[in-house]
Amino acid sequence: MNWTEMRKRFHLPDGVIYLDGNSLGPLPVAAAERVRRTIEDEWGQLLIRGWNTGADGEGWMGWPTRLGDRIGRLIGAPEGSVVVGDTLSIKVFQVLDAALKLRPDRRVILSDSGNFPTDLYMAEGLIATLGQGHELRVVAPEDVATAIDDAVAVTLLTQVDYRTGRMHDMASLTALAHDHGALAIWDLAHSAGAHEVDVTAANADFAIGCTYKYLNAGPGAPAFVHVRPDLQDRIAPALSGWLGHAAPFAFDPSYRPGPGIERMRVGTPPVLQLAALDAALDIWDDVDMPALRARSLELSGRFFDGVSELCPSLMPASPADQTCGSQVSFRHDQGYAVMQALIARGVIGDFRAPDILRFGFTPLFIGESEVDAAVSHLAQVLTTREWDQPQFLARKAVT
Ligand SMILES: *Cc1c(COP(=O)(O)O)cnc(C)c1O
Repeated sequence: MNWTEMRKRFHLPDGVIYLDGNSLGPLPVAAAERVRRTIEDEWGQLLIRGWNTGADGEGWMGWPTRLGDRIGRLIGAPEGSVVVGDTLSIKVFQVLDAALKLRPDRRVILSDSGNFPTDLYMAEGLIATLGQGHELRVVAPEDVATAIDDAVAVTLLTQVDYRTGRMHDMASLTALAHDHGALAIWDLAHSAGAHEVDVTAANADFAIGCTYKYLNAGPGAPAFVHVRPDLQDRIAPALSGWLGHAAPFAFDPSYRPGPGIERMRVGTPPVLQLAALDAALDIWDDVDMPALRARSLELSGRFFDGVSELCPSLMPASPADQTCGSQVSFRHDQGYAVMQALIARGVIGDFRAPDILRFGFTPLFIGESEVDAAVSHLAQVLTTREWDQPQFLARKAVT
């Protein structure tokens, strides 16, 4: 892989070291042009005809499944098993509801305390909406395997812990869930585009994820959902929107689910955002995933070693081995202020409450020189207590 050439495919502002591609990926140069064309040539000229003829005659209406197939190639999902739309929170609700209906005699949803809160919140909301006495059981990440028993209807797990980077073994936990008659949902928010994923080899029942993190499709870009082919036609969708209908333009008075993955669609697709996603996915056609993963481990290892040496006040929060995702995290009592001071120096990472400093390593646009400079900035912020100033201590709405 030619990393220098790859980097040229992203717009990165001068003076910024961007270690936050795991929260919001940077702008692919081609995405700006692609969105402009979609606005001016398609929306502007085609108007409503674009649904049938947008993008070289193909039609916007087909984009959610066409782009779903493109994402499918990155996560080991077969053609026709992935569709794009809505946000990840919505997709959690859809697949969780589908799974519970496939296990009508069971009442337990099993998740872990490392899961991203919205996944747990959506489970709580679904439980209250169903009103059938389901229970959300949340255990420590290391206790998931022992907590899977015959009462569990479905496991709802995020493969990579958003705070620490700790990675679950998808294949073994899925096999364990299946041994106990449960279904497995995998949230790939911090996996898709970060490392090799094979939902087919892992035999995952459902997989979901977002496209604005490692896939770089932009703020508010839609989520994706994969349903294992043999389950698709057994799903009775809770969010029975018209575009998941078998014949949306028949305008039937009542709902009939569409074939296969189509039924996971809900309403009108976000065409401009899909145009950005399409351009962002072009980059992935040229990425060798094993090489990307090897380089990501190399860079995050280099950062981990540098920080361990120069910043003794930071406590490692990530596993320092192959079980870590494409990020490195440390704990510090004043983590928020430290990150603000670092951002003021142009090194952008994340703070995650209560005390986590999180740095994402995305080899598509980060190399050794950025890693070394980031270590050095962080060491200076800490040794001079640069963070201990009012402008860094005051919290903003989005951390
Ligand atoms: C980023 C992330 C989300 C975000 O959900 P949205 O509905 O897209 O805001 C959900 N779950 C996980 C695990 C995430 O990492």
